[in-house]
Amino acid sequence: MYTKLELEQFVKQAKQYARYGKVADYIPALGKANPNDLSIAIYTPDGSVIDAGDTTDKVTLQSISKIIALALVLTDHGEKKVFQKVGMEPTGDPFHSIAKLEEVQPAKPLNPMINAGALAVTHMINGASVEERFWRLLQFVRKLAGNPEISYSKEVAKSEFETAFLNRSLCYFLKQHGIINEDVEELMDLYTKQCAIEMTCVDLARIGLVFAMDGRDPLAGEQIMPPDVARICKTFMVTCGMYNASGEFAIKIGIPAKSGVSGGILASVPGRFGIGIFGPALDDKGNSITGMKLLELLSQTYSLSIF
Ligand code: GLU
Repeated sequence: MYTKLELEQFVKQAKQYARYGKVADYIPALGKANPNDLSIAIYTPDGSVIDAGDTTDKVTLQSISKIIALALVLTDHGEKKVFQKVGMEPTGDPFHSIAKLEEVQPAKPLNPMINAGALAVTHMINGASVEERFWRLLQFVRKLAGNPEISYSKEVAKSEFETAFLNRSLCYFLKQHGIINEDVEELMDLYTKQCAIEMTCVDLARIGLVFAMDGRDPLAGEQIMPPDVARICKTFMVTCGMYNASGEFAIKIGIPAKSGVSGGILASVPGRFGIGIFGPALDDKGNSITGMKLLELLSQTYSLSIF
């Protein structure tokens, strides 16, 4: 249906919007990104990839890692245990907001895509030490992407670890209310490494493909997570994957997707393909402004909305 030439054309069109965005700099190392970068890859079940833009650039996952950590803990612990510690409802608040935590009873984060909920999920990653838990997560990511080389950026992890005061305060709140019971510095160490896992948009597209194919990697012929886990993750992508712009995104674009403040977007068109995008210029909600434009062009041209 789409060709490389068309995709390149869309990238060119979408790049024009970079000037209305701004790279995230509250994590100092992310401030070095070039707002004009934009890359996209589309991975189909037969293994073909169509890509355009600066596709060899590696970017950190940031909040995209939340959906992957969720898939891992759901696979490990099952729905019942995970949803005792984190809810299923969108918030309409920014991702790092602390406001709603005090309003709900019992005090648990509203969903796993806001930072408080993601910290509760990362807390549930099994393993005897931070190193072992991170290794398990990394192995899971590598399997999903079909790429054993994937690693993390030490620079970005350190930069976030040194400045994550708000996330620390969320952890202390969660600890006070019994949602987590580990040392906050250890959880921050694990969480900042998780967010700093880095890859190309091609790797990201392949992960999107696994979610699109109900947890099965069609190329390796392996069921990596149960279909129900993939279904729950895609549902969260629709309801809260694009921060507090998820409603508008569902109407305008209508593809399950998760974004991160590095400018990445992981998207899954159910049963059809995975999409990976990196475009560091962000809008005021924290979504890639060029990436959203690119997805809008794709969705409208090829009628990709699931609704
Ligand atoms: N590591 C980032 C944080 O927790 C992720 C935020 C995001 O991508 O939304 O602040």
